[in-house]
Amino acid sequence: MNAPRVVTVPVPTPFPVGPVNTHLVLGEPLTIVDTGPLTEDAWDALRAGLARHGVSVGDVERVLLTHGHQDHFGLAARIEREGRARVLGGRLDREHFRGRRNRRLLLDALTRAGFGGLERLTMVAMTAAVDHFAEPLSAWDELAGGEVLPGDGWSVVVRSVPGHTPGSLTFEVPEAGILFTGDTVLRDITPNAIVDEDPERPGETFRSVSRYFASLDSIEAGKSRLLTGHGGRIVGFAAHRAKLEGRYAFRVGQIERALSGRPKSVADLCRRIFPTVRPMDLFLAYSEVLGFLMYLEDLGRAERVPCRPVERWTGR
Ligand SMILES: [Zn+2]
Repeated sequence: MNAPRVVTVPVPTPFPVGPVNTHLVLGEPLTIVDTGPLTEDAWDALRAGLARHGVSVGDVERVLLTHGHQDHFGLAARIEREGRARVLGGRLDREHFRGRRNRRLLLDALTRAGFGGLERLTMVAMTAAVDHFAEPLSAWDELAGGEVLPGDGWSVVVRSVPGHTPGSLTFEVPEAGILFTGDTVLRDITPNAIVDEDPERPGETFRSVSRYFASLDSIEAGKSRLLTGHGGRIVGFAAHRAKLEGRYAFRVGQIERALSGRPKSVADLCRRIFPTVRPMDLFLAYSEVLGFLMYLEDLGRAERVPCRPVERWTGR
């Protein structure tokens, strides 16, 4: 057994989340997990981080992408172009990696959710602005989960963990006792499961929270250290998981309480649960509320009241 050394290089992002972690697996092939966003600051930080460990962008042979968010894959195309790296990412984040977004579907969904014109415009504009922080990929290898990627004396076990995005993946290097979690598990932040078009059911909304909880159930960390997409590593996943479940249970309770009384739109519920949300975080608030409503709907604890154009929800 020839466990490779793994080091983390935090890279700055322009987003409220702060720096994103890129991880180097200093083995054969030289592998990087996530890249940082498409900014000169991120590029410089990544190159400096590689140099600290005696390697350069041209030496990178494999880029593994945990998911299709800009802060995680933004520089992948540039790394590929400037060197000889093969890029691999989740099949169900294909549209993310291509930089495509179904804005019509988003606008229709926001109308149905009961947001006013300015709020809808803000959210669509915010998502469009964020898209600028990644160079779309034109060629990459798609991973479905279940693959084992070879290394010289080590391997990467790929698992599909839909939720944060439909195509989110974890990468485990068993020989090093390490699990790369992307944004599926974070130490200091409760991950969002973001609603989006369901890539397997075009035109429908991805049931992000329900899928996320099922993915969380599937994670077997054992004694592995979890290297996350933002912030520090996690040792002892079981204890962390218990904390996380407490926070999600709190959110479920909040939404169920807010659902009592007359039926409410998603926008009504956002105002109640996130009364001070900043415009740039409104999309995340919307996503959180709708994701949890669909989760409660899957459990038979919430239902939609059919009315047009704004859909309303009630508890059961
Ligand atoms: Zn993300």
